[in-house]
Amino acid sequence: MITGTHRPSKVLVDETAILHNIQHAKAQLKDDTQLFAVIKADAYGHGLLRVARVTQAAGATGFCVAILDEALALREADYTIPILVLGIISPETAALAATQTISVPVGSKAWLEAALPVLQANPDQPRLRIHFALDTGMGRIGFREVADLIDAVDYVKAHSQWFEIEGIFTHFATADEVDTTYFNSQVDKFHQYLAALPERPKYVHVSNSATSLWHAACNGNMIRFGVALYGLNPSGRAIPETPYQLEPALQVVSELVFSKIIHAGDAVSYGATYHAKRDEWIGTVPMGYADGWLRRLQGFHVLVDGQFCEIVGRVCMDQFMIRLPKDYAPGTPVVLVGTSGDEKITLQDVADYSDTIHYEIACSLAERLPRESINPIK
Ligand SMILES: *Cc1c(COP(=O)(O)O)cnc(C)c1O
Repeated sequence: MITGTHRPSKVLVDETAILHNIQHAKAQLKDDTQLFAVIKADAYGHGLLRVARVTQAAGATGFCVAILDEALALREADYTIPILVLGIISPETAALAATQTISVPVGSKAWLEAALPVLQANPDQPRLRIHFALDTGMGRIGFREVADLIDAVDYVKAHSQWFEIEGIFTHFATADEVDTTYFNSQVDKFHQYLAALPERPKYVHVSNSATSLWHAACNGNMIRFGVALYGLNPSGRAIPETPYQLEPALQVVSELVFSKIIHAGDAVSYGATYHAKRDEWIGTVPMGYADGWLRRLQGFHVLVDGQFCEIVGRVCMDQFMIRLPKDYAPGTPVVLVGTSGDEKITLQDVADYSDTIHYEIACSLAERLPRESINPIK
């Protein structure tokens, strides 16, 4: 997609907020525990390479990404610290991962068997670093039986020229909920697997952001710190208390490109679903659902000059309209996410109105919106 550098709509990323979030998270960790920054999906929409740079400067000692291509982009940008892919990669790409010293999850012996000939065809590369994924209750990827894990460990031992066990991990389904029953059942299962392992790998990790915030006892020796580094509460509004203040890093801003007065009965946008009740000032904002500003945000609001302005009529692909309290000229700043005067709109507010979670809103912001740093570090 072409990025709109000549249009006023953009995403602002506060580097200092990210720095603070990571520093606070690190201060909570035991000395032997490392923080890997989860920067998958273009760093949750904040920009992969920007966030890689800031998080490493803030003390992250590794990165987690979702897919091999994200890891390759980081190596291409000369990042040499450990990178763990969190999703299962194609066995055909095992040699590529090994060559670039990218660590990958393994959830079955079958995957190892499929990757072996691929590695053997490239005998000069380093061993592939693997992290055994344990499905203790997430139901997504990983071993579900201790015996299967031990079988895979034996397979790796028998092919230790090609594979190196670097880590073991699991992922929690309910770490962001008040009720800890299911969470605790996952912890118990994880300990059963760990007890059955002949030796502890270098990295033992279970914590996403929510686990690191609210279940500090079970961090292992590495945490996979994602959404909280961007200053977002992993629970949404379910658990408002966090051990340290999370500072949201992302803002979305634009400017009016047009404004006009319309009269009682006049309609706005597709379907003519909105009709003015009286004379009304209507402004047009150059952003739409193609930018990730969802169509269902009709009826929500943005901020102009410290005042909430309703989104009237349907959100179009590239533009939407708002009702202004008075005439504001083209070029007037519009805040979609962030603060204006004394008022504020958060990603959580947008998510609530859209009936989803803030993760999804952040990831949906399209590449067409340029990302710009504010409050750059050092
Ligand atoms: C995305 C992801 C994380 C990060 O989760 P947050 O809630 O953003 O902290 C950690 N672990 C795995 C396996 C993931 O897929």
